[in-house]
Amino acid sequence: MVILDGKKLAQKIRLSIKEEVNQLKQRGIIPGLAFILVGDNPASQVYVNMKTKACEEVGIYSINHRMPREVSEKELIDVIKMLNDNPMVHGILVQLPLPKHINEEKIIEAIDYRKDVDGFHPYNMGRLARGNPLFSSCTPLGIMRLMEEYSIDVKGKDVVMVGAGNITGKPMALMLTNAGATVQICHIYTQNLKEKTKRADILISAVGKPGLITEDMVKEGAVVIDVGISRVEGKVVGDVDFENVSKKASYITPVPGGVGPMTIAMLLYNTLQSVKLKEQ
Ligand code: NAD
Repeated sequence: MVILDGKKLAQKIRLSIKEEVNQLKQRGIIPGLAFILVGDNPASQVYVNMKTKACEEVGIYSINHRMPREVSEKELIDVIKMLNDNPMVHGILVQLPLPKHINEEKIIEAIDYRKDVDGFHPYNMGRLARGNPLFSSCTPLGIMRLMEEYSIDVKGKDVVMVGAGNITGKPMALMLTNAGATVQICHIYTQNLKEKTKRADILISAVGKPGLITEDMVKEGAVVIDVGISRVEGKVVGDVDFENVSKKASYITPVPGGVGPMTIAMLLYNTLQSVKLKEQ
């Protein structure tokens, strides 16, 4: 069994991004990424802080807009429009989830798709669906990159994607399909989940339910990717029962240290892509 070390690969990617950022700076170009954080959700604050720190580390200039929970949809859209028009800003990230009174879809669509480094805009989702991506969601992009690093070929493989969310499940299924895998997407209404997961050469879980994927649900020698992040008794855990599943898997991601660091590395990568797109 091999551990897919996302932390190590993310470090390597960040180093190469740092070099590229330095080269851009010599040409007078400073990559800029804007974060918008609404309210005081502690997990969202942690994520934005981690992403801001990652930007600092590679030399990407970051702007933080913190807005109160009660902010109106219009006020939020006005800030996005201002950032869309700001030539110093190459990427705009609105940290999700947003408070209930704000329509998430409207906010995502307000972002200029050329600055949509999260890859959530319908234009970017549509491009991915057509097999011609511009910006793709960072988590599935990081998973593809991680598998590539370990020479895991997805072409012709049976993949089961547990979780059909817009951030991971759906774009992951599209990326894998584009790469030649046969993908089955499972979700909360899927019946006999185990029957399906047991057939997977590559099993990916993005649900957020600790212990969902147990050893009896996994085929011998499968590649197991755990996207889930939950807190149990103060510890960060994934969806997979790592201790037992790792005995059966050929490759497996740890939580933490697997998919999470790759997500942040891909955000930096997408920001750099946005700069290149603008400068070309
Ligand atoms: P989401 O709410 O958009 O999607 C969850 C999906 O899980 C839904 O499709 C739902 O139908 C499915 N589901 C729920 N219960 C299920 C069950 N019992 N069996 C099968 N399917 C079930 O969530 P999301 O934004 O995709 O996030 C999922 C998890 O991944 C969360 O724990 C989140 O914190 C984590 N996450 C981690 C990273 C990372 O970088 N590691 C990035 C994004 C999300």
